[in-house]
Amino acid sequence: MSTRPCLTISVDDGHPLDLRVAALLERHGLRATFYLPMSNDEGPPVMQPAQMRALAQQFEIGSHTRSHRFLATLDDAAARAQVVDGKRMLEDCLGQPVHGFCYPGGHYRRRHLAMVRDAGFRYARTTQNLRIDAGSRPFEMPTTLQFYPHPRSVLARNLLSRGDRLARLPGLVTAMSAGDWLERVHRLLLLAAERNGVFHLWLHSLDIDRLDLWHALSRFLARAAACMPPQARATNGELAAGMFSRAPDAPPPAATADSRPGRPQTRDAAR
Ligand SMILES: [Zn+2]
Repeated sequence: MSTRPCLTISVDDGHPLDLRVAALLERHGLRATFYLPMSNDEGPPVMQPAQMRALAQQFEIGSHTRSHRFLATLDDAAARAQVVDGKRMLEDCLGQPVHGFCYPGGHYRRRHLAMVRDAGFRYARTTQNLRIDAGSRPFEMPTTLQFYPHPRSVLARNLLSRGDRLARLPGLVTAMSAGDWLERVHRLLLLAAERNGVFHLWLHSLDIDRLDLWHALSRFLARAAACMPPQARATNGELAAGMFSRAPDAPPPAATADSRPGRPQTRDAAR
């Protein structure tokens, strides 16, 4: 753990409703990273280029592949094209470099870590949950929780099927102590603050809209802002730079990619 806590938020998929999330974040003075595909083969629309550029004025923009394809379902050439083209097209749209990447569906395999690194990204976010730290692998940045009403049984099942169980245990114990999912999110926020840890919330704006969670989200962001002072708030990229760039014992990305077991990751860690 560092000497002070960190609050970071990420928003996936580039749906036009992300602009409503951005307005909420601005209202509460919070920083965040939006991971944008250029289109979404799953069906939902994505923002227009001008909207992406406007968003980039206030928040970090990361890539989410070219058309929101799960890398583990593609052959290597197609996966690489999704990673490389997604970065290039987003940079062309924004007129600025893009350093962060997020695996669609949290679905990737070992070889994709090197693919993302070789494309020129500096870090990548996964959907691993229940963490109150930034992890130690720049191309597998974990999260704390998705803003979504998952039942506790889903969280427990997820812990058993995924790695890093020890690092996730404090988060799991805290999550299991609350029956209500919103209370669970709040308790994890407090746990991260108390332990000078990282609270990383992620969400889809379309989920917030479909489940009518706008008021709940606003209320929670107000709580997060009250709990985490301005100097504790960071984009995913700022967190990654602070956690990984100066760590003397951090393995280089190549070693990280090559030494990891090829365990496939599954869509939306909590599901
Ligand atoms: Zn996604």
